[in-house]
Amino acid sequence: MKVWIEPELCMGVGTCESIEPLVFHERGDGLWAVKESAAHFGTEVVFDGKRAPHGREGAARVPDELKDLVLEAAEACPGKCIRVMFDEDTPVT
Ligand code: SF4
Repeated sequence: MKVWIEPELCMGVGTCESIEPLVFHERGDGLWAVKESAAHFGTEVVFDGKRAPHGREGAARVPDELKDLVLEAAEACPGKCIRVMFDEDTPVT
């Protein structure tokens, strides 16, 4: 599963990070990005437009053990801007 945020819809509330801080990351400018944590992938990669190959449009891989919390964050997101994909061809939310 992969997750990303549509940045133009993010309301900057931080609900996502309060639910799953290993995946959702405050960028330092009041908006949130997704990340792949060092705890799960060896090296932390933040998809914030500066440190990842696809910038803010990039999608972070989600470890199996965090899938339920990422889906909970997507449900709770007030901007409805968290998108998840279970495989390369099937966007879900
Ligand atoms: S919960 Fe949604 S709107 Fe709020 S900071 Fe996270 S992505 Fe942005």
